[in-house]
Amino acid sequence: MTELILKLQNEDETIAVGQKLARHIQAPLTLYLTGDLGAGKTTLSRGLIQGLGHKGAVKSPTYTLVEPYELNGVEVYHFDLYRLNDPEELEFMGIRDYFNPNSLCIVEWPDKGHGLLPDADLHLHLSYVAPGREIKLEALSEAGKQLLATIK
Ligand code: ADP
Ligand code: MG
Repeated sequence: MTELILKLQNEDETIAVGQKLARHIQAPLTLYLTGDLGAGKTTLSRGLIQGLGHKGAVKSPTYTLVEPYELNGVEVYHFDLYRLNDPEELEFMGIRDYFNPNSLCIVEWPDKGHGLLPDADLHLHLSYVAPGREIKLEALSEAGKQLLATIK
């Protein structure tokens, strides 16, 4: 399967999608997260990162661009490229090293890094649909398809 759409009635349901992904996800994998400000990208990332075993808070890497974690031997990188002015900044930060065979990369606002980011395995798009949110999960690789099949 390549596409799945789910209704998310409240914040807990957004977190639950992240937690469910965490149960089945395997590095290497790249996730793109798109949607308007406040749509729930960081909320879902929090469910995923805590689901992978992180005990503390998950802060939005809005100013740092990336927040690194090491969880059960896997490198997890949570990007928020909203404030990226020029995709070339990604070159300066050595973006390629983050996307390696042992890493899981979660990218909010991937369009800001257009041309310099590796392709996604799974693209999650969140939108406002009253009273909550809706998420579209789209698989873009074989690994993405397998992951999507396990969470439906
Ligand atoms: P983004 O990273 O997309 O800018 P955030 O995750 O930081 O968005 O913020 C999303 C806001 O919406 C939070 O206040 C969160 O509590 C709320 N929220 C998340 N999921 C839902 C949902 N399914 N229904 C209603 N509110 C939600
Ligand atoms: Mg965010």
